[in-house]
Order: sequence, then structure tokens, then C-alpha cells
Amino acid sequence: MKRRLPRTVFPPSERRRRSRIAELAHSRRLLRGTLSVRSLTCGKSNCRCARGDLHVYLYVVQSHDGKPRQLYVPREWEGQVRQAVEDYQELQRLVEGLSELEWQRLIKQKE
Ligand SMILES: [Zn+2]
Repeated sequence: MKRRLPRTVFPPSERRRRSRIAELAHSRRLLRGTLSVRSLTCGKSNCRCARGDLHVYLYVVQSHDGKPRQLYVPREWEGQVRQAVEDYQELQRLVEGLSELEWQRLIKQKE
């Protein structure tokens, strides 16, 4: 017979965390990456950027299969992309927290 871990009744603080995870996973766009703002000149000599008023571009950068990749984020997508990055980070923190709690539970069960 397989030895099973005892059925866990999660404490309220953990239940809140789990329902927030479910909420994020169910209804949010999730994007792993970091936002990067770059100021560039376009190369046209008569453009405002040639006088120091640089063009500002937003990119989202992530590593994928061990290599960095990036995507230009148009201004009209900025809010949505920022939110997706924040929601991903929150979800990751919450899942990591659950993993830590599970780790601690396993330690206690061994004692
Ligand atoms: Zn320019």
C-alpha cells in the first residue's frame, strides 16, 4: 500500500493565498518578464531626437529556453502589459510561498 501524506486542512491564511492564486490564474493575463524603457534616436537629422528629445520605447524582456528575447510594447498596450507582468509576479510569489509552507510541513512530519 502506498503511504500517503495525511490529508491537510489548510489554515485560513493559506486558504486566502490559494483562492488568490485561483483568481489570478482564472481571470488575468500573465506574463513573465521585465519591462525595459529605452531612449533612442531614430537617425533622422531633422527629427526632435537629434536635438536631444529622444524617442522613448518600452520593451518587455524575458529569457526563453535560456536565451533572452524581447518584444516592443506599443503605448496603447502598456497598461495591459504592465498589469500582466505584475500579476505574473504576484502569482509566482504566492506559489513559491505555498511551496515553502509545504516544505515546512514535510520537515515537521519527519520529526
Ligand atoms: Zn527621431
